[in-house]
Amino acid sequence: MVNRLPAIFFGHGNPLLTLSSNPYTQAWAALAASLPKPRAVLVVSAHWYGPGTRVTAMSAPPTLHDFGGFAPELYEIRYPAPGDPALAARVRDLLAPVAVTLDQAWGLDHGTWSVLRHLYPAAEVPVVQLSIDAAQPPRFHYELGRRLSPLREEGVLLIGSGNLVHNLRAYAWDRPTAPPADWAVRFEREARRLIVSGEHAALIDYQRIDSESRRVVPTPEHYLPLLYVIAQQGADDGVSFPVEGVDGGSISMLAVCIG
Ligand code: ZN
Repeated sequence: MVNRLPAIFFGHGNPLLTLSSNPYTQAWAALAASLPKPRAVLVVSAHWYGPGTRVTAMSAPPTLHDFGGFAPELYEIRYPAPGDPALAARVRDLLAPVAVTLDQAWGLDHGTWSVLRHLYPAAEVPVVQLSIDAAQPPRFHYELGRRLSPLREEGVLLIGSGNLVHNLRAYAWDRPTAPPADWAVRFEREARRLIVSGEHAALIDYQRIDSESRRVVPTPEHYLPLLYVIAQQGADDGVSFPVEGVDGGSISMLAVCIG
């Protein structure tokens, strides 16, 4: 379909990545350049994980520096993309009867801007974030993703921002090229197979993907954005992995493009 945008899951990794030009950020920029410019972007970020389902509804969302202990340059980053209150209202309507709060308190967290400042450095494309309700099971998030699919034909690029494999305890902070852990490689390989073959039930029930799934996904928030993206996968959608790699041995930077 000519005007149907893809949906993309990004592994965002360590926020320091956003400061540099590296193979991951270069691949992000190249991917954006290969797509039609969207009217707006809707992001489901791992870093807005809490009570209820909320959508940013302000016209000028602030840049949030939602981390601690990083280099001062990171705190100076601003990503001044406009919001899109009309899109926020559209998202609320699409997700009914789930109650969605039009939020005026959040903004753009680093799961969003660390990627978007490489996709759209001029910050000209309006951005809306959708929160992840921490009280809900994985299937709930997949079902919300299904309800958002009309947006792809309305010029909206749906982005999930997290990491397929996300174990900070095993992460080699000072060694980006540390060899990936066996359990990380095994989980990612199987998850990729399930994505390509459209086996969504197995991806929703991710703790059963591997005997060491709990090491790979110790907490759900970096995995769940993937479910919003694979929920877009229809019969005529291709699947590709435009960015690959494991940072510091235990953070998968895999990107998944549906459509
Ligand atoms: Zn993160």
